[in-house]
Amino acid sequence: MSLRCAVSFAAIAPAAPLPALPRESDPSLAHPLPVQTLPSQPLLAQPLLTWYDRHRRDLPWRARPGEAADPYRVWLSEIMLQQTTVAAVIPYYESFVTRFPSIAALAAAPLDAVLAAWAGLGYYARARNLHACAQAVAASGGFPRDLEGLRALPGIGPYTAAAVGAIAFGLLAVPVDGNVERVTARLFAIDAPLPGAKPALRAAAAALGADPDAMARPSDFAQALFDLGATLCTPTNPACALCPWRDPCAARRAGIAADLPRRAPKKLRPLRHGAHFWLTDATGHVLLRQRPPHGLLGGMTELPGTAWRDAPWPAEEALRHAPMPADWRPTGEVRHGFTHFELRLDIFAARVERIDADGFLRPVTALANEALPSVMRKCVRMAGA
Ligand code: SF4
Repeated sequence: MSLRCAVSFAAIAPAAPLPALPRESDPSLAHPLPVQTLPSQPLLAQPLLTWYDRHRRDLPWRARPGEAADPYRVWLSEIMLQQTTVAAVIPYYESFVTRFPSIAALAAAPLDAVLAAWAGLGYYARARNLHACAQAVAASGGFPRDLEGLRALPGIGPYTAAAVGAIAFGLLAVPVDGNVERVTARLFAIDAPLPGAKPALRAAAAALGADPDAMARPSDFAQALFDLGATLCTPTNPACALCPWRDPCAARRAGIAADLPRRAPKKLRPLRHGAHFWLTDATGHVLLRQRPPHGLLGGMTELPGTAWRDAPWPAEEALRHAPMPADWRPTGEVRHGFTHFELRLDIFAARVERIDADGFLRPVTALANEALPSVMRKCVRMAGA
């Protein structure tokens, strides 16, 4: 599930001089805003934009000042950044755009090649949607330039439509990611816990975006909010002394900045179990198979294995699912976390003269080119490849 969402402020009166927050009676607010948290002075966009002009991050997908943003790069980076950090994304992004330098190149590539380039970023449904979206955009001659058209594309939800729309096309929208949630929660001292506070935070972000200076530079304003959250208004130890909004910030004045946003206690994720088999032959090949096209890790490559179920697999039962009879030996347990469950996988390895089993063979030395998801790469490492 994406942590991101979006608000359009086109419907808010453009002349609103201050970022008035919604009324407490607004039924869209799951958590009404306490009156005492209203800022005591104008929260003008200009101080943030001035700070951004001096301190903006230099990111590979970001246009330099005065340059037009490339919608392909903006869109690609936003899909990659969903639930992944900037530092983790940059090498993937660089190699992705080298391999697929344009939306047309991405659209023309086989899905397997896209999945292989994506391998390691997780959330493989995104890679499939990325490919489908590229094909839709290439077929229609370019990205739509309105929020509704963007949202109709595969894999583009309200957040991504707002981010691409604001950053690439200057549309009046505020994309609300985790950074923006944190900044707005602190600026307005909204202390209701997430995720219930999301509507209130979206409303607060929309109020900020209704400032005429923000509306004059929607692309920069969106990116300035991202940068403020990423560099100064960080989850722990926010650097308030350097912040362009230090004076009006309600959480700083109340001394609770580092405590916000609050979060409801996390539910424990259920645990599932499985077993996978590393089978090699005398020619240095390993047996692989492809997962079904739909569902979790759909279309990705994996080591043959059991289903993933709630109960642990006793070794004797697991080995009944081995791809062929062999001298199987246990090599260890792999642990992996998915969004909705934790996984424990027992790994078994064997070497035979010749493999005679369902699946396909690949040289052990060429596995880097395979669309193996992170959990399977862990299995490969555990098997000692
Ligand atoms: S003053 Fe501090 S808490 Fe408030 S927005 Fe700035 S960095 Fe965040």
